[in-house]
Amino acid sequence: MKTETIAIHAGNYTDASTGAVVQPIVLSTTFERNVDGSFREGYIYSRSANPNRTSLEKVLTQLEGGADAAAFSSGNAAGMAVFQSLRPGTHIIAPDDMYHGLRNQLKTLFANILEFDFIDVDNTEVLNAHIKPNTGLIWLETPSNPLLKITDIKKVVAIARKHKIKIACDNTFATPICQQPLALGVDIVMHSTTKYFGGHSDLMGGALITAEKNDCWQKIRQVQEMGGAIPSPADCYYLVRSIKTLPYRMRGHVHNAQLLAEYLQKHPKVEQVLYPGLPSHPNHKIAKEQMTGFGGVLSFCLKDGREEANRVINKLQLFTRATSLGGVESLIEHRATVEGSDTKTPFNLLRVSVGLEHIDDLVADLEQALL
Ligand SMILES: *Cc1c(COP(=O)(O)O)cnc(C)c1O
Repeated sequence: MKTETIAIHAGNYTDASTGAVVQPIVLSTTFERNVDGSFREGYIYSRSANPNRTSLEKVLTQLEGGADAAAFSSGNAAGMAVFQSLRPGTHIIAPDDMYHGLRNQLKTLFANILEFDFIDVDNTEVLNAHIKPNTGLIWLETPSNPLLKITDIKKVVAIARKHKIKIACDNTFATPICQQPLALGVDIVMHSTTKYFGGHSDLMGGALITAEKNDCWQKIRQVQEMGGAIPSPADCYYLVRSIKTLPYRMRGHVHNAQLLAEYLQKHPKVEQVLYPGLPSHPNHKIAKEQMTGFGGVLSFCLKDGREEANRVINKLQLFTRATSLGGVESLIEHRATVEGSDTKTPFNLLRVSVGLEHIDDLVADLEQALL
């Protein structure tokens, strides 16, 4: 089946008892046992499994082309489950432009438990130089947040395989509509489903999708069930509902982001536009090879620095000044001040989550703000 069909049907079943076409939300935390002690549908207690979570995990598995998926209460909880599944003392190689929330998680919560290096993972020489005997995981994020860096997934997979290192990829910016890392050899895909999957800036969630149901996956399942950072049945329901339109929403985000990037690139006040869909992007060729769309987020730098960035962001009418991304409404943020004191993000950079408004209205708003 094709993506659009999977998105609509994989996560839903017609309710057997009522014939309801849309799967109901099962709020019950506990499930009745049969007289012989068995459980009717295998459900026991909602922390371990819930029908709405099962549906969500099913559609996520199929969209990413994996063997199984585990849903979490946030993207950070999903990332944390991967780190918690590693043996203490394991060395992780992570990108220098890793999502700041996960970078801070490693540096704060795992400081004495795991070893890590934040490097330019796309640079083969640098990557090889950082591989150690205890390296157990290479973490990728492509496109990256907020610099829209592209990592050549196949190239890193080949290096990881040679050294028997697991490889995980944060696919939040691309979604499986634009990029399927498991098909390129990645072991685990991670998502903040808060973003494009939810798509309406009204729920938090995270997910992991595995290529294989192996020992590593068993550990991750244990972290999910025993750790308990699970999404509520209602959040699972809303995610399954939103995923039905994901393929069409992504098309709109990609379309608008490309046009907005091209508009900004020609603007005399703009120093640089970071978007993998532009031929000027240093890894545009790789992006074209491994992606079927370039995503809906772009960053741009203003020639006149931070003051000008502040002026522009405050003059915009349609773009909301807020963090996060992936919703139907366009958002813009001054990223460096969100990331905190150890940020490497330039101070003249603005990150845009391009929404699904009409592109003419988005361009017109930027035009008046940049005057
Ligand atoms: C938002 C985000 C996360 C974290 O997800 P939460 O749902 O906010 O916990 C991780 N990675 C990327 C790329 C993100 O944009």
